[in-house]
Amino acid sequence: MTGPVLPLGGVRYAFHTFGCQMNENDTERLAGYLEAAGAVPAGSIESADLVVINTCSVRAKSEEKLFSLLGRLRSLKKKHPFLVGVAGCVAQVRKDRLPEPKSGVDFVIGFDQYHRIAEIAAESRHRKMIETSRRRIFREDPVPPVRESPWSGYVTIMEGCDNFCAYCIVPFTRGRERFRPLSAILEEVRGLAAKGFREIQLLGQNVNNYRDPKTGTDFAALLSLVAAVPGPEWVRFLTSHPKNVPPALAEAMARTPKICRQLHLPLQSGSTAVLERMKRGYTRERYLETVRTLRSLMPELRLSADIIVGYPGETEVEFEETLSALSEIRYAGIFSFCYSPRPLTAAAGLVDDIPPEVKRRRLAAVQALQKDIQTAFHQTLLGKVEKVLAVGRSKKDPAVFAGRNEGNQVVNFQGPEDCLGRFVDVEITSVGPYSLRGRMLTR
Ligand code: SF4
Repeated sequence: MTGPVLPLGGVRYAFHTFGCQMNENDTERLAGYLEAAGAVPAGSIESADLVVINTCSVRAKSEEKLFSLLGRLRSLKKKHPFLVGVAGCVAQVRKDRLPEPKSGVDFVIGFDQYHRIAEIAAESRHRKMIETSRRRIFREDPVPPVRESPWSGYVTIMEGCDNFCAYCIVPFTRGRERFRPLSAILEEVRGLAAKGFREIQLLGQNVNNYRDPKTGTDFAALLSLVAAVPGPEWVRFLTSHPKNVPPALAEAMARTPKICRQLHLPLQSGSTAVLERMKRGYTRERYLETVRTLRSLMPELRLSADIIVGYPGETEVEFEETLSALSEIRYAGIFSFCYSPRPLTAAAGLVDDIPPEVKRRRLAAVQALQKDIQTAFHQTLLGKVEKVLAVGRSKKDPAVFAGRNEGNQVVNFQGPEDCLGRFVDVEITSVGPYSLRGRMLTR
């Protein structure tokens, strides 16, 4: 008996993923669709018949990286033919430029067409395909994702964003907010629990806004329900908007030990005037108040943030306010960037008036200060024992294992081969600004 003919039967695929966890999660979903159509992992871009680049356009630099990768793929294509597809944010906003005859791109696929990737890739053997049309409801994937980690699983709870921060392209690439039904979220979490996943990471552009489309169940209640599923020991979520951290959410975190004492709360700027120009919807004072409330309930909470320097019109005094906010809040980690104008956004209409060298100087000052803060914080952990989920090996030394603690910080440690995928206790023996090192204790 022969089975149905699969459109990508035997095709070897590879991904290159830029950007955030949402993009990593999308890559896992796309891989699920490709494998359901008969494709198999290639192991590397060089040996693939189909390469999909999952792109990010949050900053101009990520887009530049895409175009340089496309240049490399064009040279590779001269040696052996293969298909190149572009997915993600850039696909959505640069759909007219990407398929130019010399680009080497065979198909462009927007977020809302991911379920059709196999059909689009197969058709692109004959003609260039551009499929980026939009939908307004949350669509369940009928096939499971191909998960990168067998221990830590992403679960999407919402897509899109309605905030329209002045600098941000996301509402234009991922569209308006769409919420996934609570029942589907819980079903996926139970499925991961049954497979032995240790950690659940709830994902969405703006998770705090979550509302079940039928019952109106909010994010705090959802979090408690997810944490109540037996099995996984840690639950995390990303991303929270600082203008909307209701007391119920802080209380749900505080009373539920399974919800990690870790929160990514993008500050962007420490200046109320800049925040206003960014249309962030909170002031410096309100942000600090939120941090105080959270820390009064959870003194051990480890906070992280995104910081933008050189936003149009940012004065030295306003920039200094960002530095003073960092000194006051003392984040466990930050992601910091120079402002770059993005198409379609409100800020794209402003004069990008901070010279590149000033942006670079400010970025260096932010990073130097944060490095000192992290080093000092890490030194307080010396000799302490951290619970760590061992997820892989150190990039620098494959004989050393790498994991993350509850605060989502990288911990490298010596341990036995069978520690992968387990929670282990690691005594911190040395620290650097960006990671912790230690030795595993037997439980
Ligand atoms: S909240 Fe603002 S920064 Fe975050 S995705 Fe939405 S528009 Fe972008």
